[in-house]
Amino acid sequence: MIVESQLCTQEAKLKEVVDAGDYYFKVMKQGERMRITDLEGNQAADTLFYNANNTEERYSAMDTLREQGNAYLTAGSMLLSNLNNPMLEIVADTCGRHDTLGGACSTESNTVRYAHEKRCMHACRDSWLLAVTENPEYGLTKRDISHNVNFFMNVPVTAEGGLTFADGISAPGKYVELEAKMDVIVLISNCPQLNNPCNAYNPTPIEVSVWDAA
Ligand SMILES: [Zn+2]
Repeated sequence: MIVESQLCTQEAKLKEVVDAGDYYFKVMKQGERMRITDLEGNQAADTLFYNANNTEERYSAMDTLREQGNAYLTAGSMLLSNLNNPMLEIVADTCGRHDTLGGACSTESNTVRYAHEKRCMHACRDSWLLAVTENPEYGLTKRDISHNVNFFMNVPVTAEGGLTFADGISAPGKYVELEAKMDVIVLISNCPQLNNPCNAYNPTPIEVSVWDAA
């Protein structure tokens, strides 16, 4: 569902460009809004969310999809935790659809999907592991890496129930905006994938903007 934001870009308190292969790792306070912009189109922002006051509580794809009764995320989707609590709501979306079924790329999946020699290529799970290692203050480790949202990624479910990776439906400047319903830790891996035609083998930067609570 296409819903445009009412927020004024000049009023954002933070604006940060995140290169492909890099990560964004920050706390968002309850009521704050975050916009992720796909600057050049067809990028994937692989994102994890944790309750900032209890990191055992984290984003749950299965609870979110069960409660909303739809396989895709878009404006109006409430992202739920493993305790079934609202974590964030998608309040604006100019892309129209985001995946939370496909998971994130890893060196292991790169070897299965593409070729054995792709094993050494940088993947989203590496970026998350680097992020939790470089930022021990959050208290997260490898075992906390869990389900994620793939913002801007197109993973249609076929009539037979199969998952397919398809050409992106995003485009330069499309964005998704979320409002935090609790204090959340946001960990984004801006995907470095070089093997998937859906980004034209060209991973590109995203921009993260944050606004204070209204
Ligand atoms: Zn990736």
